[in-house]
Amino acid sequence: SNAKAEEKTYIIATDVTFAPFEFQDENGDFVGIDMDLLKAIAEDQGFKYQVRPLGFNAAVQALEAKQVDAVIAGMSITDERKLKFDFSDPYFDSGVIMAVDEDNNKVSSYEDLKGERVAVKTGTEGAAFAQSIQDKYGFKIVTFDDSANMYEDVKTGNSIACFDDYPVLAYGVKQGNGLKIVTDKESGSSYGFAVAKGENAELLQMFNDGLSNLKASGEYQKILDKYLETGD
Ligand code: GLN
Repeated sequence: SNAKAEEKTYIIATDVTFAPFEFQDENGDFVGIDMDLLKAIAEDQGFKYQVRPLGFNAAVQALEAKQVDAVIAGMSITDERKLKFDFSDPYFDSGVIMAVDEDNNKVSSYEDLKGERVAVKTGTEGAAFAQSIQDKYGFKIVTFDDSANMYEDVKTGNSIACFDDYPVLAYGVKQGNGLKIVTDKESGSSYGFAVAKGENAELLQMFNDGLSNLKASGEYQKILDKYLETGD
């Protein structure tokens, strides 16, 4: 760590709800893999920060507008985003998958989406994937700002399916969110911590150094296990 970094409080934007990466616990505190990683990395590297749960798309927009210093929000490292942002080393592998209501026995493939409404979350890889197959399979897209409202639209039957990141949907399904996964995972990008292109290089370096220290110490795996361990 360096003296300059110790004086500054970095503003770090995140999603409103994206369990197990960021979500509010019973006390209203933001917890999850991203939140715990950030906390441990900041401790390891000696920097101060404040988290702003803005929602995913708003967080990305705020970073682009340089209103915040960084984003950690299960944000996929994509070539398109690399034009605007600098990413840390990848810290979690992801991918996009489709889910339907757990009682829906009619939709089990993209072919079954014809003429139906499909829910996506604005600005995400899931939304981009849905758009990329929309014409081929002939469905309509309905957009939401957060995953909770997107899932709710499927639960109420307004949308027939939704697309979201595999680790998030799998966790939600296991927690009993009322949905089920019906397709194979599409290949997707890994998650990274992002800063605006050419900005906050020292913060990015501290994130990478801290991440590598946490991996070496076993703390990284402990954080993952805390949220993902199946126990059986
Ligand atoms: N990983 C996805 C993306 O970057 C979704 C992130 C999110 O919804 N928080 O587009």
